[in-house]
Parts: sequence; structure tokens; C-alpha cells
Amino acid sequence: MTTTLDRIAPFKNEAIKAFTDPADAAAMEAALKEVKAGFGRFYPLVIGGERIETQKRIRSINPAAPSEIVGEVASASATDAQRAIDAAQRAFESWRAVPARERAEFLFKAASLIRERRFLYDALLVYEVGKSWPEADADVAEAIDFLEFYAREILRYAQPQPITPMAGEENELVYIPLGVGVVIPPWNFAAAIAIGMTSAAIVAGNTVVLKPSSDSAVTAAWFVDLMHEIGLPPGVLNFLPGSGSEIGDLIVAHPKVRFVSFTGSKEVGLHINELAAKPEKGQRWIKRVVAEMGGKDAIVVAADADVDAAVEGIAVSAFGFQGQKCSACSRAIIEEPIYDTFLEKLRARVAKITVGNPSERGTYMGPVVNAKALDSIERYIEIGKKEGRLIAGGKRAEGEGYFLEPTVIADVSRDAKIAQEEIFGPVLAVIKARDFEDALAIANDTEFGLTGSVYTSDEKKIERAKDAFFVGNLYFNRKSTGAMVGVHPFGGFNMSGTDSKAGGRDYLLLYLQAKSVARKI
Ligand code: NAD
Repeated sequence: MTTTLDRIAPFKNEAIKAFTDPADAAAMEAALKEVKAGFGRFYPLVIGGERIETQKRIRSINPAAPSEIVGEVASASATDAQRAIDAAQRAFESWRAVPARERAEFLFKAASLIRERRFLYDALLVYEVGKSWPEADADVAEAIDFLEFYAREILRYAQPQPITPMAGEENELVYIPLGVGVVIPPWNFAAAIAIGMTSAAIVAGNTVVLKPSSDSAVTAAWFVDLMHEIGLPPGVLNFLPGSGSEIGDLIVAHPKVRFVSFTGSKEVGLHINELAAKPEKGQRWIKRVVAEMGGKDAIVVAADADVDAAVEGIAVSAFGFQGQKCSACSRAIIEEPIYDTFLEKLRARVAKITVGNPSERGTYMGPVVNAKALDSIERYIEIGKKEGRLIAGGKRAEGEGYFLEPTVIADVSRDAKIAQEEIFGPVLAVIKARDFEDALAIANDTEFGLTGSVYTSDEKKIERAKDAFFVGNLYFNRKSTGAMVGVHPFGGFNMSGTDSKAGGRDYLLLYLQAKSVARKI
């Protein structure tokens, strides 16, 4: 039997631009100008398809030049939040009945429109969250991948599902949506994660209240506008920016909300999980919580490893996007025989990293996202200077923005604060291990379990690490960042989250429930 899915080309990852092609570079320069010309624009709430202005507003600033306002976004009140949930509930009644093929079509259309406007999205990410050109493009490419991947996935789940036949009965198993969902993304993959979580929920037949991060609310607003431009029915996707303290708890605890899809810090994730677990008056279900949280990711370098390759992988994993990736390497764990050689080579490599305004093409590291993050990271650097030996960076870098030098602290003990707590900035702790077993034990000795990488040429060590290194995404002889949709389904263990895998074949199940139907014949 040929199905709709068979007629669609297999999923393929979008290629990421390195901007070595002069045509790409010129298009990016033009897009940066165009986006800058639109700075300061106001983005209203979108509730039930209606655009609503508010007195209170969120200012999204350019972290490389904080006096520049990228956009002003409405800030929702408790009344707005209630209205958004009501609108999503009304829309669910019809959206859940829209065939999967039609729902998938919205995602395919969105992917193709974002592809057309790719440089504009890239430019927005450069300004709103301080990504370098290639980092911004990788974020947008991942967003396109999520749309393409989840569109195909719903078609797979909509096909007849394999069940054991039984004489005298006609049986089937169908996947149906859950209801109204609250989607709460972080700012660090401002396009990919916001678009990925939202599109997965919608394509599965749910309706969504999207509460973006205040640091990336303009990027989220662009996506919401794009979905309405392509004709998404009113109320399916409601845009509800606002302060966590004013509307966060309200939307998470609301009895009409069926699920919460969150990506962010451990602290906020645990709070949401706890709040959502308590049924409110009139609530008819146990809320489902998908919470993707932080990491304290390690790269282990074995004594037999190619040290130059390890240095390169660690530098890129630790300092790409200023270390503000959940998959970033924040601990380098090095076997004793090569420890000193590694440190020397790492120091030389880090010295080559450029810090500056990411709107300039050659910049590798831009600013950290906001003043609060800058303060918090600087505090960790001060702690780190006492916990170890500063061998690179340690200070603010020049410029009006929130710039920090790439910072390396060596001789850190495994239980030091900077070896245990997520810093979420360009700070790397280097830890010496007695041998490979000791290195693995150190790597596992945190409450997180998100990504990890091992550099070795020894097959036995690879087998041992495959079994013993307890992380959701394990890599060998490569960086710990840069998971690709479909290729490396992404998500971690322990306090890194609820063990889900974004961009994997199980992911849509988190937004569906299965109904078994039996008919006597
Ligand atoms: P955060 O926890 O501060 O915020 C995440 C989101 O939660 C934001 O939209 C924020 O506005 C919202 N929020 C805050 N308080 C809330 C409340 N009381 N109720 C409801 N919503 C509330 O995280 P962040 O700074 O945006 O992102 C960085 C964190 O995200 C890091 O810890 C990083 O490791 C993690 N992260 C994890 C993954 C993953 O896949 N595991 C991916 C990206 C980022």
C-alpha cells in the first residue's frame, strides 16, 4: 500500500552555511541592514488570532550593544493568560479533527518560507541573542529540520499501526492529541527550540499557548506571525510573552492545560514539574510534563588520544556561542600522562579565539545574553580562580556589550563548585584524571547527564565508555555540541530532563495518546 508518507522525499538535514560563499556573505550583510532598519517594532500578543496590545512591554535588546532595542513585545497579564487558554481550548475542538496530512502541510509550508527568509532569521538571531553568523544559521537550519522532521513523523503516526490480529474482531490503534499545551522555550536556540517544541505540539493536533523567553521574544513573534501568514487557524497557536512570575505559574497550574513542554534551567524545570503535578479544582487529568534541562557536559581525553583533535573539539564545544549551549563542554577531563601537553596546546588554541560584535563576519565569540548572565558568570569566574589555576581569560572583553573572554581554569577538583554547577557561559574547568576509569567516574559524578564526548583511539576504551558514560548524547572523537535532527536525537538523563529525545522518532509520542479500538465482527 502506498501512503502519503511514501510520496514525500525522505527527511534530509538542511546544510549549514559557513559563509565562505561570497553570495551568502553579501546576502547576510543585506539582511543585517534590513533587520536593523526594523529595530524597535512592536509585537502584540496573539490570542485566538486577535492581535492585542498591552501597556506593559518587554524590551528585547541587542546584547552586543544594549542601548539598541531589537523590538518591543507585549507583556501579558493574568487576564490575557486566561483568555489565551480559553482560545486554545476552543480551537482544539476543530483542530484535533483536521487530518494529519493537512496539519503536516502547515509545517512544510513554514519550513519553506523560513528557508526563503533564512538570512533575515539569521540576522535577527545575531542581534537578539548575540550569535555569530554560522551559529545563527545553524539555529535556523535546525528549526527548518524540526519542521520537516515532525511533519513526516505525524504522517508516520497517522498510518495504520501494527497490532496482533484476532479472529472475530477488527482492531486498530490510533494516536490522538492531548489538548491544550503550554510551550516554554529558552532563549539559547531562539529559533530551533521554540519552533521545534511548538511545531511538534501543533502537528500532533494539540493547540498551544507559547510563552517565549523575554530574551528572544522577537524571534518567537516572527514565527507566530509566519504561521498565521500561512493560514494556521486562529487559536491553534497563541502568543503569550510575559514575566515568569506574573503568568508562568498561572499557565502551568491551569486546570484546562493538558501538558507543559519546557526547555530551560534545572531550577525552573523542577518548579514547573512540581506545580504541574498538583491537580487543580476541576482538572480531569494528570498533566504531562516534558522538561529538558541543564547540563555539566564533559569531554574525556584518554592518554592515547590525538591531542590536537581533542583540543580543537574542546575549544569549539566550550566557547561556540559563548558556552551558552546545554551541550557545551564545561569540563575537560584529561588523563594524567598528557595533562600538561594538553593544557599548553589548549592555551594556544584559546588565544586565537576572537571576541567581538557578532554582526561582523569574522567574529567567533559574541556577548553573553544579558547583564544578569554576565554577573552570574563573572561570579563563577571569581570562585573558579580560588578553586583552580586561571590559564586563559577571566575578564570582561572590550566593548559596550556583555562580552567576556574565553576562560579556562585548570587543576580543578572533581567536586569543585565550577565542576558541578551549570555556569552557562564561556568558562571551562580542566580536571586531571589518574587513568581512564577515573576519568569516566569524574565525568559521571554530577547530577546531570546530557552530552559527553571521549577522545581515544583505543577500541576497548570506546566500548567501556559506551557502557559506562551515562549521558543522553555520547560522542567519540568529535565535539559534544551540534546534534543534528534525526541523526542525533537529543536529550539527557538525570537532572538534565525527562529523558525525551527532540528530533527523534519517539518525540511526537510525548504530544499524543494512543486509543485502542476493537469491533466484534
Ligand atoms: P530558564 O529556565 O531561565 O528559562 C526558560 C524558560 O522558562 C523561559 O521562557 C523563561 O521565561 C521561563 N520561565 C522562567 N520562570 C518561569 C516560571 N516560573 N514559570 C513558567 N516559565 C518560566 O532558562 P534559559 O536561561 O532560558 O535557558 C538556559 C537553560 O536552558 C540552561 O540551563 C540550558 O542548559 C537549558 N537548555 C536545555 C536544553 C536541553 O535540550 N536539555 C536545550 C537548551 C537549553
